[in-house]
Amino acid sequence: MKKRVVLALGGNAILQPGQVGEFKVQQENVEKSSESISRLIKDGHEVVIVHGNGPQVGQILRQNEMAQAEVPVQPLDACSAESQGYIGYMLQQALKNKLPMSDIVTILTMTEVDPQDKAFENPTKPIGSFYTSEEAEKMSAEHGWVMGEDAGRGYRRLVPSPQPQKIIEVDAIKKLLAQDVVVISTGGGGIPVVKNEQSEWEGIAAVIDKDSSAYQLAIDVEADVLMILTDVPNVYLNYGTPEQTKLEEVPVAQAREYDAQGHFSDGSMGPKMKACIEFAALGKTAIICSLEQAPAALRGEAGTRIVG
Ligand code: ADP
Ligand code: MG
Repeated sequence: MKKRVVLALGGNAILQPGQVGEFKVQQENVEKSSESISRLIKDGHEVVIVHGNGPQVGQILRQNEMAQAEVPVQPLDACSAESQGYIGYMLQQALKNKLPMSDIVTILTMTEVDPQDKAFENPTKPIGSFYTSEEAEKMSAEHGWVMGEDAGRGYRRLVPSPQPQKIIEVDAIKKLLAQDVVVISTGGGGIPVVKNEQSEWEGIAAVIDKDSSAYQLAIDVEADVLMILTDVPNVYLNYGTPEQTKLEEVPVAQAREYDAQGHFSDGSMGPKMKACIEFAALGKTAIICSLEQAPAALRGEAGTRIVG
């Protein structure tokens, strides 16, 4: 049966650990990632693809900082748009090469956030380059940035990570899906925007978690399935310990209990499980698995599924 599926790609779909990010290398990764995605499309599903952008936007920020004597520095929202553009281009091209008859488009996507979100009082998400403590103080004074220590590796700029409220381009995306167009959208969680005093959209310096935005997109486009594809084939209890146990089908209430027991780490599996629990609670299908297993997982033959 044809399903409307929101696919959230993990960072490894574009850049593997240890790789530095040459365009060719990212393109090769994306080509491999596209094999599995193209099978889902061939199976006849309506597919929206969400991707991360952390390493890519970090590099764009670095380029801006290093070139600032000659080229004006662009704000974070513009850097985020740049990364959506080029990652979208790579995916669009790789998928088009596999599926010449399919229409595939990238939508530069804005995600509404609430300016009153508590995240704005306490920026927590490290982005861009590393600095010494003296440099960090200087950046703070010059740009008004909040700086913080990042895991003993140096100081970095910290930005808020607010909750997504709405995907602005949702209507366009739905129209495209209804016409069987494959859509790449909400890359990097979407470009965070707020309504200003004139009731106009305006970019804001923040980063939205891509798994939370994938959930919001899945709600807004009325998807049947939310699939979060990452670098592990399943979610586990006691992950990384000798007691590690694979989860296959987990009822929502049980998943909430495991979450409360701390089985899913904050910066990685936690947001994925939270997104899937909320989605499954609506009686819909939520799956976490590896990219390679996506087609099998959608048939219920692999991965971890949270069931409502
Ligand atoms: P992505 O780029 O796909 O968002 P993350 O690194 O943020 O990737 O999340 C995936 C990682 O979550 C896995 O590689 C694994 O190390 C980690 N993880 C934490 N807790 C769990 C768990 N309970 N089960 C499986 N993986 C877990
Ligand atoms: Mg992640």
